Amino acid sequence: MKGKNLWEDLLKVLSKKIDKKTFEVWFTNTKGVELLEDRLIVEVPNPFFVQWLENVFLKDLTNILKELGHPNLRIVFKPKSQDKKEERKTFKIKKKTSAYREKEPGLSSRYNFENFVIGKGNELAFASAKAAAESPSSVYNPLFIYGGVGLGKTHLLHAIGNFIMEKNSRFNVIYTSTENIMNEMVEALQTHKMSSFRKKYRKVDVLLIDDIHFLQDKLALQEELFHTFNSLYDSKKQIVLTSDRPPWEIRNVEERLVSRFQWGLVVDIKPPDFETRVAILKLKAEEEDINLPEEVINFIASKIKKNIRQLESCLMRIAVFSSFYKKEIDLPMAKEILKDYLEAAKENEPERVIEIVAEFFGLTKDDLLNERRTREIVRARQVAMYFLRHYLNLPLKQIGNIMGGRDHSTVIHGIEKVENILEKDEGIRENVVEIERKLRWV
Ligand code: ADP
Ligand code: MG
Repeated sequence: MKGKNLWEDLLKVLSKKIDKKTFEVWFTNTKGVELLEDRLIVEVPNPFFVQWLENVFLKDLTNILKELGHPNLRIVFKPKSQDKKEERKTFKIKKKTSAYREKEPGLSSRYNFENFVIGKGNELAFASAKAAAESPSSVYNPLFIYGGVGLGKTHLLHAIGNFIMEKNSRFNVIYTSTENIMNEMVEALQTHKMSSFRKKYRKVDVLLIDDIHFLQDKLALQEELFHTFNSLYDSKKQIVLTSDRPPWEIRNVEERLVSRFQWGLVVDIKPPDFETRVAILKLKAEEEDINLPEEVINFIASKIKKNIRQLESCLMRIAVFSSFYKKEIDLPMAKEILKDYLEAAKENEPERVIEIVAEFFGLTKDDLLNERRTREIVRARQVAMYFLRHYLNLPLKQIGNIMGGRDHSTVIHGIEKVENILEKDEGIRENVVEIERKLRWV
């Protein structure tokens, strides 16, 4: 493939110009995926890489491209999406065995109970998860964990699965996301393999489903899950679900399913307090073998409050710098390294989110807040609501107020609209990623 070859040629030249370690860190997991008339699309591990590669290496890379005889070509980095990775994984498995494997738990060993830091916001969720893992299906069934982005829901889900598998590897555990299970079902429908699909999910001992809020509007999947749920429940198998909102706020899901979600225990995870943030940073630093002075840790913990993934992101930036420049990091350096990131994070108050979204769509902040209802404005407004909800974790009511006094149902509708389109429309997904980057959330 042309894109792949060109990228490889380019890397060959670059590898001679920069040091080996740096090259390995940043380029071993990149791939030229497409060569268009004016662009070379390069896939990189995650959005953080995109930002880094653009800031640090883009100029050099573009120069090399020129040297190689492509003066008009731009390099565009594209993050590999997590979900796509998962999709690919399942796809591969299916291809290899052409039937459903019995044991494909899909668990990541990175997440366990030992490396989950317990604090006020998550102690209940942790204790329930641990209890469910210690005696599956006898305490809480189902266990329903909900909370905002980056607060550890997925972590706990994997921890439950890992714990159970470790104790008894004969247990049939499946971890899956709602999106994944949806894709699987569609594939099963197309290939007339619904019965093996059903069998797979009905004979598990422990079923862990992530992000169940994506179930809304997916009627066929709801129907399937309803029966799966009943069958598992009746035979006393453990079900654990996570969601970004409580069951009663998930709309367009059949009532009978929503009510089943609440048969067991519903617990929420809240953002961590300062001590917990410090503890998490210390643990992650240790895991990554990063040596950080106390004051740097306290500094980060005092700046990032609502999202543990962002805490990790700060740490990673520091780690990269420290290995890049082969220096220990002190407070002034940490401040310098994180300056942009933290400034943005601090300013990511509702105001700024609305401004950035408006600007992205070529509108003004006022357009989003007033009553005008052209298609474009409505869409931009909905995207703003989506961000306020998912990234600032604001309550619906507050979002309504901020967005010029809109009522609860308008807000829910708006957010759902974006969630639904996001799944179907690559274009919108790219927009959202772009806005995320502008807000430096990734
Ligand atoms: P969610 O699924 O709620 O969006 P994740 O489970 O993906 O969040 O967590 C985001 C990141 O934060 C993960 O890398 C996870 O390991 C880490 N994390 C979240 N909560 C904790 C915690 N209490 N202790 C340690 N790490 C945590
Ligand atoms: Mg998650």
